Amino acid sequence: MSAPDRDIQTQLVHAGEPRPSIEGAVVLPVFQSATFTSRENETYDDIRYLRLNNSPNHQVLHDKLARICKGEAAVVTSSGMAAICTTLMTLLRSGDHFLAQHCLYGGTHSLMVEDMPALGVGFDFIEGNEPDTWAGLLRPRTRLIYVETMTNPLLEVADLEAVVAFARAHGLVSVIDNTFASPVNFRPLEMGFDLEIHSATKYLNGHSDIVAGCVIGGREHIEHIVHKLNHLGSSLDPHACFLLYRGLKTLALRVRQQNHNALELAQFLRRHPAVTQVTYPGLENHPQYQRARRLFAGCGGVLSFELCGGEAQAEHLIAGLELPHSAPSLGGVESLITRPAATSHAGLTPRERQEIGIGEGLIRVGVGIEAAEDLCADFARSLNE
Ligand SMILES: *Cc1c(COP(=O)(O)O)cnc(C)c1O
Repeated sequence: MSAPDRDIQTQLVHAGEPRPSIEGAVVLPVFQSATFTSRENETYDDIRYLRLNNSPNHQVLHDKLARICKGEAAVVTSSGMAAICTTLMTLLRSGDHFLAQHCLYGGTHSLMVEDMPALGVGFDFIEGNEPDTWAGLLRPRTRLIYVETMTNPLLEVADLEAVVAFARAHGLVSVIDNTFASPVNFRPLEMGFDLEIHSATKYLNGHSDIVAGCVIGGREHIEHIVHKLNHLGSSLDPHACFLLYRGLKTLALRVRQQNHNALELAQFLRRHPAVTQVTYPGLENHPQYQRARRLFAGCGGVLSFELCGGEAQAEHLIAGLELPHSAPSLGGVESLITRPAATSHAGLTPRERQEIGIGEGLIRVGVGIEAAEDLCADFARSLNE
């Protein structure tokens, strides 16, 4: 049903769907069953049980995700953090070492700083745009390099081509958290990354109603990750699988609208006299604008900006907006707005925040799929109040 060369929009709808369909159902039903009857000559590997991630609801997702990301295999997990944690625990053991981009997603940063050392795994943070400095941090047991497509909330785009080349030259597994771009805007496996991870909570599901994650890559890596996941038990429940499957079908439509909305809002804000700085990789003044243009089909739905009135004006703006909810997370159909100093980066001191470029008044927006004109008008109104 799904020739490999079909467009991602077609694959999102059709790839992995059972044909003939089950009982004629056009939509794959939810298999709300913890276990499945044994078949003849079944071995341990054939047992179907929800924790083993092999119900029909899991399988259709695995197939769809592998096809759209151009990977050999995929697995879904109970959250983005479950995907990240399981991947690191599969690839690293006591005595190993890895390199990770600094400024990672907060949960990932805490996992690396608090939990990996307790497992005997060492790491060093790297500057994503200084590839010349990476080799100096290699150790005999460096196994892996970990980056994000765009950092949060300053949307730095690391030298991703250099990451792939460096991993190949030094025999490291290259892992990328591609949540912010989504496979519609960027497909890291095509570029040579070994493993692609998503918080499917965000764009992939797209409706802010479940927490989920996934890992996509080569068959052998994914087999090892599934084996570890079966031990850790972080499987996605079949009803959440169903919601993710439903959300995925409209991924391309949603993300293209979000690319458009974010660019329109970024351009509107840049022209507004109360705004001192707008950060979005789709604006020509972004330091990695050229790289983003070369690698990405669009720059996604997240942008950040600062107002001349700092924190107080930021709070005033957020309180006066009618459309965006003031809430963490991103990637859903509704726009969300936060002040990272008060939410995602509240755990750092003001000085630590300043060091990584997050001012007290910095505002992050994750745009939804509303009409861009309505979003811009809402910001214009609240800024002028
Ligand atoms: C949200 C997020 C995560 C964590 O995902 P959960 O689904 O909340 O566990 C990881 N990486 C990035 C970039 C995220 O935005």
